Amino acid sequence: MQKGKIGVTTENIFPIIKKFLYSDHEIFLRELISNAVDATQKLKVLYNAGEFKQDPGDLTIRVKLDKKKKTLTVSDSGVGMTAEELDKYLNQIAFSSANDFLAKYKDQANNLIGHFGLGFYSSFMVADKVEVITRSWQEGAQAVKWTCDGSPEFTIEDAERASRGTDVILYIDNDSKEFLEEDRIEEILKKYCKFLPIEIAFGKEKEWKDGKYVETDRDRIINNTKPAWTRKPAELKDEDYLNFYRELYPGSEEPMFYIHLNVDYPFKLTGILYFPRIKSNFDIQKNKIQLYCNQVFVTDSVEGIVPEFMTLLHGVIDSPDIPLNVSRSYLQSDSNVKKISSHITKKVADRLQEIFNKNREEFEKKWDDLKLFISYGMITDEKFYEKASKFALFKNTDGKYFTFDEYEKQIKEKQTDKFKTLVYLYSTDKHDQYAYIEKAKEKGYDVLLLDGQLDLHLINFLEGKFKNSRFARVDADVIDKLIQKGEEKKSKLTQEQMDDLKAVFKGQIKPDENFVVVFESLDETDAPVLITRSEYLRRMKDMSQVGGVFSFYGDMPDSYSLVLNGNHPLITRISDDVSKMLGEFLKQNSEEKSKLKEQIEFLEKEHKNKKEEEIRQFEKDDLKKMKEELEKKEKERNDKLAEYSSGNKLVRQLIDLALLANNMLKGEDLSRFVKRSVELL
Ligand code: ADP
Repeated sequence: MQKGKIGVTTENIFPIIKKFLYSDHEIFLRELISNAVDATQKLKVLYNAGEFKQDPGDLTIRVKLDKKKKTLTVSDSGVGMTAEELDKYLNQIAFSSANDFLAKYKDQANNLIGHFGLGFYSSFMVADKVEVITRSWQEGAQAVKWTCDGSPEFTIEDAERASRGTDVILYIDNDSKEFLEEDRIEEILKKYCKFLPIEIAFGKEKEWKDGKYVETDRDRIINNTKPAWTRKPAELKDEDYLNFYRELYPGSEEPMFYIHLNVDYPFKLTGILYFPRIKSNFDIQKNKIQLYCNQVFVTDSVEGIVPEFMTLLHGVIDSPDIPLNVSRSYLQSDSNVKKISSHITKKVADRLQEIFNKNREEFEKKWDDLKLFISYGMITDEKFYEKASKFALFKNTDGKYFTFDEYEKQIKEKQTDKFKTLVYLYSTDKHDQYAYIEKAKEKGYDVLLLDGQLDLHLINFLEGKFKNSRFARVDADVIDKLIQKGEEKKSKLTQEQMDDLKAVFKGQIKPDENFVVVFESLDETDAPVLITRSEYLRRMKDMSQVGGVFSFYGDMPDSYSLVLNGNHPLITRISDDVSKMLGEFLKQNSEEKSKLKEQIEFLEKEHKNKKEEEIRQFEKDDLKKMKEELEKKEKERNDKLAEYSSGNKLVRQLIDLALLANNMLKGEDLSRFVKRSVELL
C-alpha cells in the first residue's frame, strides 16, 4: 500500500471547496459523469485506432445509490487508470487544478456557479470520503483503489475489479443527504446529462404487471445520446426538429421556425434555435436557450453569449469554444464569443430572409408573432437591422403587409409634404382612432397599424434611419396639417371673430381639460370641433413610461388641442349669435381697444427714437396706464364672452361631441351629454 500527502500547501482545502461552492453542490455529479464520458470516449478512440483490440462491449455508464451504505457510485467501462496514472491525474494534476481554481476565484464565488473547472475534486463538496477503484484498459493491468477522507492524506492500494473501467464511490456526508434520494439524483441527471453521448443508466425500467409497477432487469437509460443538433441537417426532417423541441420543452406551444446551426471554422458551434410565437411582453420567456459544451449542459442563461434580443429564442447551442469558467463581463469582451454572437445573428437573419423569399404568404401569416422579436433585434443590433430591413414588414390598417421599400414606394407620391418630408401616418388603435383613419383615407393616404409594444421605439428608431421622413399618428393634428401641401384654405371668419369664439369655447372648458383652443379652416363637411394630440409631446409622455431620461415628461399635462373648424356652419352660427347678442358691446369695445392700441403704438414708436434718459416720467406713466386700460378692456370682453358661453348648450355639446369621437367622454359627463342631446332634439 502506498501512502502519501496530496501536494498542497493549505492544511485542509476541502472545507474551502465546500464553502465556495455552497450554492451549487449538485454540479459534482456533472463533473463525475463528464469524466466517465471522457474516459469512455478515449476508449472508443483507442479502439478505432486499432490500439485497443478487444470488443469494447457494453459501455453504459451506471449511477447507483446505496442508501444503507450512504454511497453514490458512478461506474464506467472507459480507459481506467494505472496506479501511476492515478497518482499523476488525481493527486498531482487534478488537485493542483482545483487549487489554482480556488486561488483564482476566491473573491468571486458567484462566478464559480455552474462553471467547469473543479472536476473530480468537487466530490468533496458532498462526500466525506471518496474511493476510486480503477483498472486500466492495458492488458494485464492491476486494479487499484485510491481512498481519501477529505484530509490531504490519501492511500493507494491494489484492489479487485473484474474488467477495465472506473468506479468512483462517494460516501455522502451528513449535510448532503439529499444526494442519497433517487428523485434528487434523477433531477440532476435530467438537468445536466440529458443529451450526453454515452448511455447513462440509473435504476431499472419499470413495467406494469398484475396491477402494479415492477422493476424489470433492463437498465433505465436517462439520456438521448444523439440529440438532433448533433446530427447532420440533411438527415433530419421537419418532424424531427419538432420532436426535439417537444423533448426540450414538453407541453409548450409549437415553434414557428427553426434554424440548425453548424459551424466548424473558425470556431466550433452546433445547435438548433427555434422561433416561439411571441404575442406580447407577457409571453416573453427569456433564458430558454440551453448552452451545452460537448453535450454537457452548462447553463440556461446565455446572456452575454448571444445578443440580448436572441434570448427570446428557444433551443440549444453547443460549443466547446465558449470559455465557461470566466465571468459574464469577461465573456462579452472575449473575441471568440463576439464571433459566435455575430455568427448566430447573421444565421438567424439569413434564415428569416430565406423563409421570406421562399414563402412570403406564410411569412406574412406569422408576422404578427415574429414582429416583436424582429423589432427588438432591429432596434438593438445594427448588423441585424441591415439584414432585417429587407424582410421586416409594415402592416397597414387594412391588414395588408409591405416591406419597408414597398411601403415607401406606395406612399411616396401622395404623402410627401411641401417640405419634401415623407410622412408615415400611423394608428395605434384602429377603433379609437377610426374617424381620423377614415379622414386620412378620404385624402387617398395610407395608414399603418403600429400597435405593438415596441412600436414607439421602432418609430423613433426608423425616423433616424429613413431619410427625410417622419411618423405622425393620425390624430396628432388635422390631416391637412399632418401633411401640409401648400394650398391654405381661406377662413370665413375674421381674426377678431375667431378670437371671440376661442374665448367662448374657453368659457366652457373645465379646468382639468387642459385644452388649447385653436382654429383651422377645414371643409364645411368636416367636423365642427376636433381634438388632436401633439405627436411630439405624446411620444415623450409614452416614452416616459419606459423610464430613463424621458421620465420627467410623465408629469407633464396631456397636450390636447381643441380644434375649431372656422368653416363649419355650426361654428359660424355661434359666431353670428355672438354678434347678435353682444354686437353693440363688442363693437364699442373694439373701437375703444383699437383707439388705445393706436395710442400705445404711437407712444412706443416715439420712445424708440429717444434715449432712455430723454423720456420723461409722465410719458412713461401714460404708457403704462394705457396698457393697463387695454388689458382691462380685453378682460371685460372675455368676461362678457364667457358669460355668454356659460348658458350656451351648443358650445358644450360640440366639445362633448369631439370628446366622444375620441373615446374621452366618460362617466357623469357622458350621461349629462346624453340628457342634453335629448333636450336639444
Ligand atoms: P479534468 O476532467 O478537468 O481533467 P478532473 O479533476 O476531473 O479534471 O480529472 C483529472 C484527471 O483524472 C482526468 O483528466 C482524467 O485523466 C482522470 N480521470 C478522472 N476521472 C476518470 C475516469 N472516470 N476514468 C479515467 N480517468 C479519469
